[in-house]
Amino acid sequence: MSYTQRILAEVSNKYPHQVFFLQALKEILHSLEPELTKNKIYEEHSILERLVIPERSISFRVPWVDDSGKVQVNTGYRIEFNSALGPYKGGLRFHPSVNEDIIKFLGFEQILKNSLTTLAMGGGKGGSDFDPKEKSENEVMRFCQSFMNELYRHIGERSDVPAGDIGVGAREIGYLFGQYKKLTNRFDGVLTGKGLRWGGSLVRKEATGYGSVYFAQAMLEGKGDSLEGKIACVSGSGNVAIYTIEKLYALGAKPVTASDSKGMIYDCEGIELGLLKELKEVQRVSLSEYAKMRPSAKYIPIEEYTKGRNEVWSIPCDVAFPSATQNELNGADAKVLLENGCICVSEGANMPSTLEAIDQFIQARICYGPAKASNAGGVATSGLEMSQNASMHSWSFDEVDEKLRGIMRGIYENASQTAEEFAERDNLVLGANIAGFRKVAMAMIEQGVV
Ligand code: GLU
Repeated sequence: MSYTQRILAEVSNKYPHQVFFLQALKEILHSLEPELTKNKIYEEHSILERLVIPERSISFRVPWVDDSGKVQVNTGYRIEFNSALGPYKGGLRFHPSVNEDIIKFLGFEQILKNSLTTLAMGGGKGGSDFDPKEKSENEVMRFCQSFMNELYRHIGERSDVPAGDIGVGAREIGYLFGQYKKLTNRFDGVLTGKGLRWGGSLVRKEATGYGSVYFAQAMLEGKGDSLEGKIACVSGSGNVAIYTIEKLYALGAKPVTASDSKGMIYDCEGIELGLLKELKEVQRVSLSEYAKMRPSAKYIPIEEYTKGRNEVWSIPCDVAFPSATQNELNGADAKVLLENGCICVSEGANMPSTLEAIDQFIQARICYGPAKASNAGGVATSGLEMSQNASMHSWSFDEVDEKLRGIMRGIYENASQTAEEFAERDNLVLGANIAGFRKVAMAMIEQGVV
């Protein structure tokens, strides 16, 4: 049994119910196999045994009072996974599906993703099973305050710097920051994704989406192609999807889909970005409203999806941007995408493709950007926000955007060159995992057994 197989077996025995964490681990360990076979230093230092266990894992009660005066209780989490490269860094997710398994898979991915950005950030993740949807403004504020009443003692600008993720945007970061400041009497860079008036960075909101498109552009250019004139399918309608659509237009492509938890829209004329932003960022309503206002658009509610499929991926396209959530693109979806001639998939969400889907993309040798590489633009720009906070400077939109583009290009080059070392130039899963891992592992070795 190889080193990676032994570790996978041990973790599977110990945590058989952590299916998301095991899925992420399986993908990573499989790609690390050639590196770990070639180089025994990692096994000698028990790097994998150490890497798979978080340095610290916190879970806590979050009680709050709803508008009717009733006490509600949620569970909060913060997993401080690895600090070999810098302070723990990673978002907070507020969604009913959140549990220890989900936060562990996200935190584990974050270690390698942050390593790939080349910035000094370790890996962490947190969140709660609280659902901000259909809550009043005051309920969201009271929840965030209660969440911070516990979290503040574990975080700090030099130790652990949370940010947003699904369900946590500028509004939530604002309430979290306000309570942190109240409790600690410190105005510092403890959170990223802050408002632009009080320490936030330009481009942070747009960064994950822009970055995912820059990554697709780099992959296509690697094959002498470009995004110009390409039809794009995008899933999701949150921050990542909206700014993926914006950048796709800027680079000459035509995005034709978006989706939310209740259904999807297909707009053959191209998604009307202003309308999408108004509905999702301002009114916070369902996408069914979009179709009422655009004759060229068709709305398909989730109940009408073909069984076992995500209907977004059945719309013929050249390039696909899964930007909603984990496992939203399965083996059957991948098959249809490939049959329809899709040549590029760039992941904006975390782990949106199942292992079966990934296998098909690799086999077909299309341009496939795995999340930890292609969606690293968000956390990279968080790193730029931390730099600006620390130096008390703020950079212009174009300056940050240029740095983001450079970082995404660098990640692509690093991943493809690393893949090439193993004679698998197109396999960016292998390249990204090995490149991200090497840096973390060597830092751990250099820092001793701690
Ligand atoms: N939640 C984002 C991610 O998955 C961003 C994290 C951050 O900015 O710290 O990478």
